[in-house]
Amino acid sequence: MLAGGVGAARYLAGLVQVVDPSEVTAVVNTADDVWLHGLRVCPDLDTVTYTLGGAVDGDRGWGLVDETWATMAALARYEQVAPPGSPAGLTWFRLGDRDLATHLYRTARLEEGADLAEVTAEVAEAWGVRCRLVPMTTDTVETRLTLAPTSADGGATAELGFQEYFVQHRHSVAVSAVRFVGAELARPGPGVLEAIAEAERVVVAPSNPIVSIGPILAVPGVAEALTARRAHVVAVSPIVAGAALRGPADRLLTELGHDASVVGVARLYAPWAATLVVDEADAGRAGEVEAAGMCCVVGPTVMHGPVEAAALAELTLQRAPA
Ligand code: GDP
Ligand code: CA
Repeated sequence: MLAGGVGAARYLAGLVQVVDPSEVTAVVNTADDVWLHGLRVCPDLDTVTYTLGGAVDGDRGWGLVDETWATMAALARYEQVAPPGSPAGLTWFRLGDRDLATHLYRTARLEEGADLAEVTAEVAEAWGVRCRLVPMTTDTVETRLTLAPTSADGGATAELGFQEYFVQHRHSVAVSAVRFVGAELARPGPGVLEAIAEAERVVVAPSNPIVSIGPILAVPGVAEALTARRAHVVAVSPIVAGAALRGPADRLLTELGHDASVVGVARLYAPWAATLVVDEADAGRAGEVEAAGMCCVVGPTVMHGPVEAAALAELTLQRAPA
């Protein structure tokens, strides 16, 4: 399956209840990844790993349950003395005390020469994750967002990194363009194209279409591999009744000229996915989804917990054309 962070992790937690986890490969977005304090941080991979490892903070949806924040509190002392523009000591991106261990381990292994796919497998194993997690690429791809010019800044355009947009600005600024720097030269992660080619079903998680699924599709070869398996590709809409359940997916779709609805998602995904699962709240738009070129399956898609997630996984597997 293709996976972003929280939406994908919740779906996967359901999927592994209804199929043998050893038969599941999750191809995870890495374009949110960032260097902080000299450490490599991979938010979507970690969200999926912690969720499948049963250790995620359920309320936040990311990070570890029962986390403590002593390191961030101590770091704030240095933030005050850092020279202007220096990212040293920054605390707006919060790394929990226990979560830091993951980034320490990952960074040490990368510095030893391991690639991100190897390290990801090791971290997943340490958390008892039984399905295969593969980064979309082991090369560096970075999401960058162009801010829509405002009258306040005299129409100047500025570009933000993904975490600056998402965390520092709490995705409350309007965006006029998104690009994935490095994507055109990136090679798919090990086994990514094979997994797509050989899978009984390719599921696209209810993840942000622009900044979670978009980067995976931007890795050369992935869109072609999906198109070749189009009949077997089933996506779950992250947009329910015209809104994202959390995060900026609805606003990003609108700002980039798409419809923030299941129909907008269908138009984006139709070239390479045959089936779209939409929520019951969107049953009235099934005809428009079909007109956009996708088979429309209607069912409950809001995952309040593992029970709903398992039922959604069942629905995506059963109702999609084989
Ligand atoms: P992020 O990387 O943590 O932002 O997470 P993703 O890209 O994987 O997921 C964010 C998207 O998941 C948002 O657009 C949400 O609307 C969607 N989402 C989260 N939970 C659910 C759910 O229970 N059902 C559906 N259909 N979508 C969800
Ligand atoms: Ca993400």
